[in-house]
Amino acid sequence: MNELEKPASQALLARRQAAMPRGVPLISNFTVDSAHGSTIRTLEGVDVLDFASGIGVTGTGHTHPEVVEAITTQARRLLHACIHVATYEPYVALCERLVQLLPHGGPTKAMLLNSGAEAVENAIKIARQATGRPSVICFEGAFHGRTLLGMSLTSKVRYKSGCGPLAPEIYRVPFADYFHGGDGLSEEAFVARELHRLDEAFSVVVAAEQVAAIIVEPVLGEGGIIPAPPAWLRGLRKRCDQHGILLIFDEVQTGFCRTGDYGAFQVLGVTPDLSTWAKAMASGLPISAVVGRADVMDAAQLGTIGGTFGGNPVAAAAALATLTIMEREQLGARAVEVGAIIRSRLEPTAEKLAGHAQVRGLGAMIGIELYGETVHDPDGAAVADVLRACHERGLLVIGAGVHGSVIRILTPLTIATSELERGLGILTDELMRRAG
Ligand code: PLP
Repeated sequence: MNELEKPASQALLARRQAAMPRGVPLISNFTVDSAHGSTIRTLEGVDVLDFASGIGVTGTGHTHPEVVEAITTQARRLLHACIHVATYEPYVALCERLVQLLPHGGPTKAMLLNSGAEAVENAIKIARQATGRPSVICFEGAFHGRTLLGMSLTSKVRYKSGCGPLAPEIYRVPFADYFHGGDGLSEEAFVARELHRLDEAFSVVVAAEQVAAIIVEPVLGEGGIIPAPPAWLRGLRKRCDQHGILLIFDEVQTGFCRTGDYGAFQVLGVTPDLSTWAKAMASGLPISAVVGRADVMDAAQLGTIGGTFGGNPVAAAAALATLTIMEREQLGARAVEVGAIIRSRLEPTAEKLAGHAQVRGLGAMIGIELYGETVHDPDGAAVADVLRACHERGLLVIGAGVHGSVIRILTPLTIATSELERGLGILTDELMRRAG
């Protein structure tokens, strides 16, 4: 269907333009009337295959009947109480469940908030109080949200230009990006070099004894689907232990089965002191969490953490239902299968694009980067072309990367293999078409 044949969608897009500020991003021209499983239906009744999951949110698929049932049942019972005012069971039950599924190496506690950025804010506030130190180390390519502190921790300049002054006491150092910075070294030698650079940073960037926390995404999401080498994460863990620094994993995008287990930290075998969670936690309702070592979590003074809506009963009920589905349907294991199917189609395509594409990822969090002569010559324009062509053929897929040069695949984990194959057929077609 060409654009002129979509009057309802066009009218809604025009209303959006008139009523909403330009700064709120928009990746596609699709409108959404309804969505079930891995399919989105536009206002014209056109079905679109969803390889984006609302940026990694609908891991259990859209409108999973058990999640919808849990939401409606809870909505009839209690919509809001505020956990600061009175205690309600879904909040406590969800914290119990998170602590059981995501143990942080000993007694563990959890608190609930509304968004990924808010979880990051609270994790940093807890870390500062627990250590009595002001500084935070974060990484190039990181994305931690759009609040003042989240944006200050975020790397990409476009996400914060004109928004300063940014939060102080934040120090950015290079992420161990073996894919762009490997320089022909073995992964072991590369990791040793990067850890040495971090040790140097304690002399030339910020004193270790001033640092409250190191915050890191186990796989850079927005930054271009770049998995951290496990040995580097182990090195971060060791340095945090040596210097009394808290290690925070931002699992907002990697969390809840996306990478093969509930958390990427479990896949990678490195346990943080604190972690942040959101996105896929409640299949689409807004809720997030900070999980952490009980002694660290309890260091926050009364009144310094929380919020009016954090852990809303309806969102908490949706999260509990989501976790039940993930457990029963073993979506962590399914993520590994989904990732293997995606790689089995994309890797041969990347090979045919000889030297101009690279496939990366962990579990079902997969990216393919397009570039010119070398990986240091990112081709964001080519990715924009491929995404547009996929959208025209009814496949919703999105980009990532500081230069927009990565096609990011975050399908629902419940996607049928036949749907996956169909979408991959469109994507590989469009990738090859560009190659001529
Ligand atoms: N942290 C990571 C790793 C993310 O990917 C995101 C969002 O993409 C955030 C934090 C911010 O989450 P939210 O948009 O829910 O505030």
